[in-house]
Amino acid sequence: MDPNDALLAGFLRERSRIFKDIKQFLSMVLKYCLYLEKKTKDSSIKSYMYIAAKIRINLPPLIESLCLIHALYGYPDSSGNETGLWDYCKKAEDEKEDEEHKFWRFKFSDETSTLESICTSLWREPAYMFLEMVRDLCDIDGVDEEASTIGRKWLECLYDTNYLKPKTWAEVVADKKRPECFGVSVGVRTFVRPLFLYIKLSQLRKNGNNHVKLEDVNAFRRIINGKKNHDSKSEYTKSEKCGSCEIFFAGCKDTNKKNINMFGNCAEYDVIQTENLDRVLRRIETTNHWKDFKSACEEHFKEFNKLKRDNPSQDELKSYYAKIREAKPKMLQYQWKSDIYELVAVDSPCSK
Ligand SMILES: [Zn+2]
Repeated sequence: MDPNDALLAGFLRERSRIFKDIKQFLSMVLKYCLYLEKKTKDSSIKSYMYIAAKIRINLPPLIESLCLIHALYGYPDSSGNETGLWDYCKKAEDEKEDEEHKFWRFKFSDETSTLESICTSLWREPAYMFLEMVRDLCDIDGVDEEASTIGRKWLECLYDTNYLKPKTWAEVVADKKRPECFGVSVGVRTFVRPLFLYIKLSQLRKNGNNHVKLEDVNAFRRIINGKKNHDSKSEYTKSEKCGSCEIFFAGCKDTNKKNINMFGNCAEYDVIQTENLDRVLRRIETTNHWKDFKSACEEHFKEFNKLKRDNPSQDELKSYYAKIREAKPKMLQYQWKSDIYELVAVDSPCSK
């Protein structure tokens, strides 16, 4: 088999599985909403109405984030597709939706089609959007658990085979004076990971400083015992920080650091706001490492916008995938260069 055909076959396999990941994720979100509805219905009518209003605000952007992932796999339009996401939602809840809520029909408008506007928009990956929703919904009577515990428990309900289930989780060690903050690693499949990393870094870099230190953060990792199988649902277990976080947040000088994850992918970046992120990114923006990373992302969005809206053919998908591979998607990673760790662009697993 031609190696290119083998790669394409891999993409098509991944593509055929993405809807399963999305449906499972959405089903978890809807179960959480139903659980809250049940819980508040018995407590007071006031909190019941309050929660309904908050769900109405939080659910559409979350669904949109799921649709964005599906669309980037070459499903930009759902017309005539009976298993569209919104149809799926409709079956799960009775709320009437209006015309503009047909999220499945995902399309970047002309104003939002540039990479910069996408990165500064509200989109993040679904797990992060879900956490934002939990954070917002925990602020009601009758729900007394901490938002971080609730968010983690619900994400643990996803199967390990679901790529939207993030690998790591981080939270700040409880401190009453400090608002609770928690976050997740980027939980998406490899084909769209560079895009979501770029979006995450762009959104986080302007956040200022919340004075949280790496040692104040609890990191949890999904430890999968044995082979990943279709019915395993691992819990998040407390783990050591990775080498990449130690280099960035704690200034590590150890030249033999092992376990250096991709830069910006870790859950710690959602928890520790530091001006250092903006400084580091500004420093590498002029380098080819950053340019390579960014231009491949730009190419992906450009090709997405060219993709036929209505049911692209196999040939069109093939050319979409080939163009994205030609752009050589990159990620950033720390490497030791004579006397310091430097960020370099490395091939994303989807470009190999
Ligand atoms: Zn890390």
